[in-house]
Amino acid sequence: MNNARQKNLFSADHTEEGPYPWELAEASDQLTASIVFNRPLETVYMYLVPEALRDILQPGQRVRAPFGRGDRPTIGFCVDLGPPPKSSRLLKSLESVIDNEPLLSPKMLELTRWIADRYLCGWGQVLESVVPAGVKKKAGTRVVRFFQLTENFDAATKLPPKQQAVVEVLRSAEEPLEAEELTNKAGCGISPINTLRKKGIIQAVRQRTTSWTVEFDLIEKVDDLQLNNDQQQSLSFICDALRAKRHETLLLHGVTGSGKTEVYIQAIREVVSYGKQAIVLVPEISLTPQTIRQFRSRFDNVAVLHSHLSDAERHWQWQQIARGSVQVVVGARSAIFAPLANLGLIVIDEEHETTFKQETVPRYHAREVARRRAEMENIPLILGSATPTLEAWQDAHENRSRLITMDKRIENRPMPPVVIVDVRNDPHSQKGEGIGRALGNAMRMALSDNGQIILFLNVRGFAPALWCRACGESLRCPDCDITLTWHKDRQFALCHSCDYNTVPSNRCPSCGHSGMRMIGMGTQRLEAEVKAKFPGVKCLRMDSDSMSKPGSHDAALERFRHGEVPVLLGTQMIAKGLDFPNVTLVGVVDADTILHQPDLRATERTFQLISQVAGRTGRSSRGGRVLVQTCCPTEPAILKAAEHDYVGFVQPELAHRKEFQSPPFRKLARIILRGPNERDLQQQSQIFADTLQKKINEMESPACLLGPAPAPITRLKANYRYHIQLSATELEPLQQLWRAAVPELQKKVNVEFIVDVDPVSMR
Ligand code: ADP
Ligand code: ZN
Repeated sequence: MNNARQKNLFSADHTEEGPYPWELAEASDQLTASIVFNRPLETVYMYLVPEALRDILQPGQRVRAPFGRGDRPTIGFCVDLGPPPKSSRLLKSLESVIDNEPLLSPKMLELTRWIADRYLCGWGQVLESVVPAGVKKKAGTRVVRFFQLTENFDAATKLPPKQQAVVEVLRSAEEPLEAEELTNKAGCGISPINTLRKKGIIQAVRQRTTSWTVEFDLIEKVDDLQLNNDQQQSLSFICDALRAKRHETLLLHGVTGSGKTEVYIQAIREVVSYGKQAIVLVPEISLTPQTIRQFRSRFDNVAVLHSHLSDAERHWQWQQIARGSVQVVVGARSAIFAPLANLGLIVIDEEHETTFKQETVPRYHAREVARRRAEMENIPLILGSATPTLEAWQDAHENRSRLITMDKRIENRPMPPVVIVDVRNDPHSQKGEGIGRALGNAMRMALSDNGQIILFLNVRGFAPALWCRACGESLRCPDCDITLTWHKDRQFALCHSCDYNTVPSNRCPSCGHSGMRMIGMGTQRLEAEVKAKFPGVKCLRMDSDSMSKPGSHDAALERFRHGEVPVLLGTQMIAKGLDFPNVTLVGVVDADTILHQPDLRATERTFQLISQVAGRTGRSSRGGRVLVQTCCPTEPAILKAAEHDYVGFVQPELAHRKEFQSPPFRKLARIILRGPNERDLQQQSQIFADTLQKKINEMESPACLLGPAPAPITRLKANYRYHIQLSATELEPLQQLWRAAVPELQKKVNVEFIVDVDPVSMR
């Protein structure tokens, strides 16, 4: 194959040329490959590399190898090459190599290895998840046949004129040519080409070319802003770290509207001036056209990685990034794996967001992976938030990271006044309405002043429960331990865990009484209430039901931004990172939705949510205020959020966490067991816990075990769920314990289980 050509194009798949011959290597100088498979296994498997694959195989490529029962050809990743191990068991040979080039660099292999160790899953599982499907499939590319002269070609050979013409074209061409180009240039059909191939004078090579590229809108470039003193100081701390060429984590604690983004941008400017690149992670729903435009208007080559990309688009972006033609990668959680070769800086904006934790295997937290990657690269990591997690805050206070504070808004704009409204005795609330008297009045005032309003409610659907007034039962999902939410628009009751839905009859399924009552308030019901109370006022609802189509989210925000719609209401979707100058009133319809959840971070989340929502207003000179409706007006998380007092919230909360031995003072691993039969599951969970406890005693491990206990959501998708919690001051003993116990657990326990290290969801 022509090597020069190969470098310019996407490389060909070896498999398309047929598998390489299965060969046993010579006993003398054998080469072995370490292979990991997409299984929850710690083991790395050794295989002999057949002679024919020796010059091709590199770590980071996928291979086919005989594996498991019946030695079925199975795809795995090559993670290392070396001499055979000393204990010279008879090794099996690899069958074929799938990728022509490594899908991961040695550094990324090391990083994925670290993830497997830290989050207690298989290395192969991590690799499988980290490389996007579109990259593995080489989506958006196609294999094309090119023609070139063979080595046998002898210029002295006499040929008929058409064949001669083909040969002449190929001799003067610098690269192999596609059939169409070749026949055009030689002025002939396909048959002289075929004849020349039969004679062995020319040969066909198959190579992969891209059939697809991304067209970008041209965006006008904008100059960097003149930083204020706080921003300048933050930037200089970051630049110190950049120039020191060592890893440092910097926690940028800046109130909403303090101009954190501008600091990131100018730090990246510095990085780009060194010829290096940056990754900016943001929560998926903050990846709005506004955010993207902000980066594209400052840098020439910005790759955006989000979940709506097609396979082809993602593959193309990945190639651009790997090739070094991208300066900045902006993306959600998985963008931390972007294959930048010369990374200079990682930024995580809205560090406190729970979506940075992946809730499927590998259950990694992007913040921890980013920290590891930054350590490996000797570069800084910036964590930005107005409401940092207690983990990030405690790190800064124990000098594992540097705290940078920006406690004023840009241009000294005031923080919006937040009023806590106790709705326990509100006449409207008592009737089950969402908008109490004070909030209703404030809305009227804001509207008469031509201001815009955001109403925030964390519950989608119409009503979160349908309840029988006679027997007190509510309609539940048959598969989950959850009430069904009434969705009026689609006229069905929906399970928000498993998507089960049913058209309920008007009669109670338990007692037959007719007339089920709708309990509680969801965004659809709130929308109906706004329309009833403010006739003629346009109102836009944003939740995952109304915004399911790609692009609808952005379109809705644009309408709101342009002032076409005065009232925007919705779930978390509207609480994040958005910047609307004309919003003069924000209403938190129910501040208590998270507060009573059985989660150790319930108060922290409540504080974050109210602070973030409150941050959506008062951003321009028009000012603005926030009304928070609650039945717990003395709750510190709500009070302190209303006072914009992060430190005032975090200090007692930390003391509380310390007293109760919970994170960030202790590390957790949560084990969830599930099965279809509750008694069985309970027994198995007990055996599981006993086995673990025995191991703890044997190993004299400092780990503490809690449980087994039914999980807060005891039934999910037709399975019962139990959980066990392991904790210790450090992660290592938990990891050691788990590794030592797993083989025994697999023997003794006959139930499905998963382990979640540093769990974020406690459901
Ligand atoms: P944060 O991310 O801290 O909430 P933003 O980055 O959204 O804050 O900034 C708030 C607003 O202030 C934005 O509209 C931004 O363009 C503007 N801004 C930021 N820095 C400056 C500056 N130095 N001078 C003027 N305006 C600025
Ligand atoms: Zn369900």
